[in-house]
Amino acid sequence: MERRNSKSLSDTNQRTNEPTYQRTDSSYQRTACGATGLVLEEPTLFEQSVPGRRGISLPAIDVPAFNPCEAFGDLVRDKAPELPELAESDVARHFTRLSTRNFSKDLGFYPLGSCTMKYNPKIANKVAAMPGFADTHPFQPLSSVQGNLRICYELERWLCEITGMNAATLWPAAGSHGELTGMLMIRAYHTARGNPRSKVLIPDSAHGTNPASAVTCHYDVVTVQSGPDGLLDPKAVAEAMDKEVAAIMITNPNTLGVYEENFKAVADIVHAKGGLVYCDGANLNALMGFVKPGEIGADAMHINLHKTFGTPHGGGGPGAGPVAVSRALEPYLPMPRIAKNGDNYTTISDKPESIGRINTFFGNFGVLLRAYVYIRELGAEGLVGVTKMATLNANYVKARLKDAYDLPYSRPSLHECVFSDKRQNAYGVKTLDIAKRLMDYGCHPPTIYFPLIVHGSIMIEPTETECKELLDEFCDAMLTIASECEKTPELVKNAPSRPFRRRLDEAKAARDAVLKE
Ligand SMILES: *Cc1c(COP(=O)(O)O)cnc(C)c1O
Repeated sequence: MERRNSKSLSDTNQRTNEPTYQRTDSSYQRTACGATGLVLEEPTLFEQSVPGRRGISLPAIDVPAFNPCEAFGDLVRDKAPELPELAESDVARHFTRLSTRNFSKDLGFYPLGSCTMKYNPKIANKVAAMPGFADTHPFQPLSSVQGNLRICYELERWLCEITGMNAATLWPAAGSHGELTGMLMIRAYHTARGNPRSKVLIPDSAHGTNPASAVTCHYDVVTVQSGPDGLLDPKAVAEAMDKEVAAIMITNPNTLGVYEENFKAVADIVHAKGGLVYCDGANLNALMGFVKPGEIGADAMHINLHKTFGTPHGGGGPGAGPVAVSRALEPYLPMPRIAKNGDNYTTISDKPESIGRINTFFGNFGVLLRAYVYIRELGAEGLVGVTKMATLNANYVKARLKDAYDLPYSRPSLHECVFSDKRQNAYGVKTLDIAKRLMDYGCHPPTIYFPLIVHGSIMIEPTETECKELLDEFCDAMLTIASECEKTPELVKNAPSRPFRRRLDEAKAARDAVLKE
C-alpha cells in the first residue's frame, strides 16, 4: 500500500516535472477512528474571496439589457450583497475539507447511549437511490405509485407484527414527532369520551422528549419516582393514578437500558382508571423479537426507524417515527391511511375521528423505504439476532468496565449500560474529562450526563454492529483512562490533547456561532 502510493507520486512528478515530494513523517500513526489526513486551519469562504473571481462563465448577452432600477425603483439594493467571490473549485474543496472534520458511523465506533449509532447497511441506500423510488413525486396519480404504496402498506403491517399492535401510521418525521402524534391521539380518545383529562404520568427515568410531548398537548406532567432498583414502581403509579390522568408514558427499555419488568402491572393500574399507556419504543433494538409491547398493555408506541431500522440517527438527515396503536386508538390515526383493495392500493383521507394530517404527503418516504429493505434483508430471524447482539455487546462492555467504573444500577442491561463518575470524583476527575480523554484515544465519547437520575452518568450503547476487537479497543481505552485518573489525573483533566480543538463551550457554540476566532 505504502509503496504503491510513493510510486504513483514519483510517476506524477516525472510527468509534471514538479519538485520531488518526499514523505517525511515516519512517525505516522493510525488513530482508532482511521483518520490519516492532514487537518489544517480552514479559512472561511469570505477570507478566501478574491474580487472578480467567478464559479460560472456565461455567454455574452444577446437580448436588450434589463435595468432593474427602471422596473423596481426603490426596491433595488443600492449596494451589491457582500458575498464571497470564488471559483467552483474553491467552494467544492472548502466544503469537502470541512466534511472530513465530521465524525460518522462510517468512520468509527460511535457509542452514544440512547441513540443507536450503529452501522447501517449500504444496500438500503442503494435501493432508496433507485430512480423508480428517488424520482417519484407526491403529486403523481396513485395508479403510478402502486409500488411505493405497497411498501408503506407492508411496512405498516410488519411494524404491527413486531410491536404486537393493531395499526400504525408511518408519517411522523422523528421519535419526538411520533410522541406528539401518539399524545394527540390519546387526547382525541379522551375528548371523544367527554373529558380530555388534565395529567400525564412520566417516570423520572423517561426520555426528555416525553414530558415535552405531553406539555405540547396541554397536559400537566406528574413525575413518578423510580424504585431503588431503577424500575417503575407500581405502588408509586397507583398513588398518582386518578381519573384526571390521561396516560402514562413509559420508556421501555428505560434510559438506564433496563427492561421495565413491571410494565404490565403498571398498565393494568392505569387502564383500571380509564387511562392509556404510551410506550416510548425508540430503543426497539433491545426488545425486537422478544417482547411485543402491544401484548403487555401499550396503547400507542413510536418506533425510531432512524435508530433500529437502517437509517442513521442524528446525522442531520431526515428520520421517521411511526406510531403503532392498539384497537382503542385506531380511529384517531392521522390521515392518510393506506388501504388495499384486491391488488390495488389506495389512500383514505376522510375518517371523521382522525387527528388529521401530521406531515406533508407520505412522510419521509426514503426513510420508510430503508426500513422496508432492512427488515426484508434481515427477516424475522435476523431481527431477533439484532436484539441478541445489541444486548450481548452492551453486557460485554459492562462486564469489562464494572470493576473500574461505578455501576449505580446493577440490574441486567439490555442494549446499553450506564456508569457514573463516582470513583473518579475521588481524584478530582469528572465525566466530562473522561469523555474528552477518550478522544485522545480516537474514540467518540458516549452519551454523558444523561439519564439525569444518575450523577455524572456515562451511557454506553455499543450497538449490535460492532465486533469484539473494536469493543475491546474501546474498553481498553476506558480502563487506561480509569488508571490515569488515579495516577495522572491532570492528564485527564486537560484532555483532549490530540484533536484539532480542545474544549469548546458547546452550549454557547450552538447559540452563537463564531466562524473565526
Ligand atoms: C431518540 C429517542 C427519542 C427521540 O427520538 P428523535 O427521533 O430524536 O426525536 C425519544 N425517546 C427515546 C428513548 C429515545 O432514545
